[in-house]
Amino acid sequence: MTPPRRISLDDWDRRYAELRRAGLREPAYGGDLRRHVTEGDTRLLRLKLDNSPAALRLWNFLLSEEDRLRHARREGNILVGVLKDLGTVPVMAYALPSVVAFYPDGAWWLPCIMEHSTALLETADSLGVDDSFCPVRAMLGAFVCQSHFPIPDLLICSTGATCDDLSAIAQRLEGLGHPVFWWEIPHRRPPDAGEPSVALPGIFRAPRRQVDFVRAELERVRALLEDRTGKPLSVAALAAGIRRANRVRALLSRLRRRAFTATPAPLPALEMLIAEMLAIHFCSDQDECIAVLGALLEEVDRRIAAGIGPLRHDAVRVFWVNPIPDGVAPLEALARTALADPMAGSPLERAERICRDAARFGAEALVISRIPGASHCALEGALIGHTVRRRLGLPVVEIEVPPVADSLEPGLRTRLEALVETVRSVRLPTSMGPGGLQ
Ligand code: SF4
Repeated sequence: MTPPRRISLDDWDRRYAELRRAGLREPAYGGDLRRHVTEGDTRLLRLKLDNSPAALRLWNFLLSEEDRLRHARREGNILVGVLKDLGTVPVMAYALPSVVAFYPDGAWWLPCIMEHSTALLETADSLGVDDSFCPVRAMLGAFVCQSHFPIPDLLICSTGATCDDLSAIAQRLEGLGHPVFWWEIPHRRPPDAGEPSVALPGIFRAPRRQVDFVRAELERVRALLEDRTGKPLSVAALAAGIRRANRVRALLSRLRRRAFTATPAPLPALEMLIAEMLAIHFCSDQDECIAVLGALLEEVDRRIAAGIGPLRHDAVRVFWVNPIPDGVAPLEALARTALADPMAGSPLERAERICRDAARFGAEALVISRIPGASHCALEGALIGHTVRRRLGLPVVEIEVPPVADSLEPGLRTRLEALVETVRSVRLPTSMGPGGLQ
C-alpha cells in the first residue's frame, strides 16, 4: 500500500502516470488533475492533495460538474437551479426521472478555485451587488457571463428565515430575466408550553404548525416540478428519493465518524470538506456520488486498519448533516428536515449543535470562520464562541476569510498556529500522538 501523503499537483502528475501503469480504472469523468488547471482551476497548483485513487476520483467528480450539467442538458434533462435550501429541493428533484438539480449559489467558490480570473465579483459589482454582500454574489456574475454552469430551466429559492444576502441576490437575478419560484421557511422557534410539536432530525423540536406550513410550501414545489416535467411526483417516488438521499447521508456519516475519530487521521480536512459538500447536492449525479463516497470510505477503512494516515494527528473539524426521517410521509419528512436547517434557528441553537459535534468527535479547539459581507447575526461568532468555551472549555479563535485570502495568509496562519500551540500546551503528555498536531 502506498503510504498516504498530501502531495502537490506536480507530484500528482507522476502519481497519476504510476497509477495508470498499474492499471487504474476510472469513470468517464476521470483523467489527470492537471487538465483542470488548463481549464482555469489554478488554485490546484497551491493545494496539497491526498494521494489516493479515491481522492483523485473525488476531485475529478467535483471539478467536472459543469461538464456533467452541459451533458445533462444535451440529453434533454430539465435543469433545476436550487438556491439557498440545504438539501431539501434536490431530494424532490432527483425523485423525478430526467431532472438534474444543482446549486448555482455554489459559484461562490469560483473566484477562489480560479483565483480571480473570472471577473465574476466585478460583474456583480457592476450590478450594484458589491462586497457589502457575501461571496455568493459571484453567482450573479456567473448568470451574466454564462461561461460556467448552464442557465437552469427552473430556479427554486427558499426565503423567509434565510439570510438577506441570498434573497437580495436572487431578487436581482429575477430582475435580470431569470424567474424564481419562492418557497418560504419560517424562523424555527421552540414550541410553547403545551403546544403540539414534532421532533426534527438532530436535537430540536418545532411546533406542529410550523412543520405543517413547510409541508404545504413543499407541496407547492411538488406541483411546480410536476407541471414543468409533465410527470407525477408520487409518494412512492418521493419515498424512494429519500431512501437514495439517505444512502448518501449514511455513507457520509460513517465516513465522518471514522475519519474524525481515528488516530492518525486517515483523510485530510480538505477532502473531507468536499465529501460533506457532495451530500447536499450530489454534485449533479446521485449514483456516482454514492460511488465516490463509497470509494473514500474504503480507503479510510484500509488506512485505519493499517494504522496509517497522511497527517500526524487529529485535526479539528466541525460540520453537521442531518439524516432525513424515512418512517413518516415523505413531504412531512422533508418539511422536518428543512426546518432543522441550522440557519433557520437562532445562533444559540447552532452553538448547541456545534457543541454536540465537537464533543462527539473529541475536538480540541474551535475555529469560527466568518464570511465577509454575510448578513448573519453580527454577534453569531461571539455567541457560538462563548457557548463552546463555557460548555466544553475549548480554546476558540474567530477569523474572517474572504474568497481569495492569499494576502491575509501570513496573519491567518499565525493565529491558527497559536491556537494549535495552545492545544499542545494544555494536553496531557499521554494524550499526545507520535508527532503532535499538524
Ligand atoms: S450570507 Fe451566509 S448563508 Fe447567506 S448566502 Fe452568504 S454565506 Fe450563505
